[in-house]
Amino acid sequence: MRFDVISIFPDYLAPLELSLIGKAHQEGLLELAVHDLRDFTTDRHRTVDDTPYGGGAGMVMKPEPWAQALETVLNLPARTPGIAEAGNAAEPPVLIVPSPAGEVFHQSIAQELSQEPSLVFACGRYEGIDERVLDWASERFRVRPLSLGDYVLNGGEVAVLAMVEAIARLIPGVVGNPASLVEESHQDGLLEYPVYTKPAVWRGREIPETLLSGHHTRIARFRRDEQLRRTAERRPELLAVMDQEALDRADLEALREAGYEQ
Ligand code: SAM
Repeated sequence: MRFDVISIFPDYLAPLELSLIGKAHQEGLLELAVHDLRDFTTDRHRTVDDTPYGGGAGMVMKPEPWAQALETVLNLPARTPGIAEAGNAAEPPVLIVPSPAGEVFHQSIAQELSQEPSLVFACGRYEGIDERVLDWASERFRVRPLSLGDYVLNGGEVAVLAMVEAIARLIPGVVGNPASLVEESHQDGLLEYPVYTKPAVWRGREIPETLLSGHHTRIARFRRDEQLRRTAERRPELLAVMDQEALDRADLEALREAGYEQ
């Protein structure tokens, strides 16, 4: 899978060279390129912004550098054999435009995007990108405005770091043990159960006894109850949208004990 990120602060994306994503990049499991938007300007000052039509505070990102950058990225050859060129896949590549006015990014979107051969990310700054860029780009890309959450950041880079990490860790081979992806928060609509490691007693606090029983069915039930209790306490809205068929009698009992009213 190939990731292309366009930003006026390419150094902001440097952490993607660290840890599991960096290792996956080095090993050729994914391809990652960060492009400086200012390289696609034509004036001496490498200008990427201008005042907004209609007045108002702040600056808006000019359209032409974005068109030049996106056209260039579309035509880049893939460097790793087997990884799709952005413009040569069967369908147009996905262009992710981070925006607080976008659809909220969550695990099922990460899952869906991890199946794509290539993703392009356009990091906005200032008051955002001239809206016509999205319209122009929709003839070349599948444009997806995505928000990290209901708050405003200074730029798209932090959102891209989070999205690339969430998507790339779902690519087979990036996370060493694939089993560890299965039981995580949001994978089945619930939050993950609490986890513990040695020692069994730490500063007077014991781990739940069931975890020492060696009894797999009881441990699985304990963990499921903890998932339900934690979700009911912290994120009850997730339970409201969960497929009710996925809840058995024991689950409903655990929810009742957690004080969750359906
Ligand atoms: N004026 C814009 C609005 O109110 O929708 C906010 C612009 S923000 C200061 C600058 C850039 O930060 C945006 O273009 C976007 O790339 C990024 N950004 C800010 N908040 C974000 C969020 N919650 N999710 C994703 N990207 C965000």
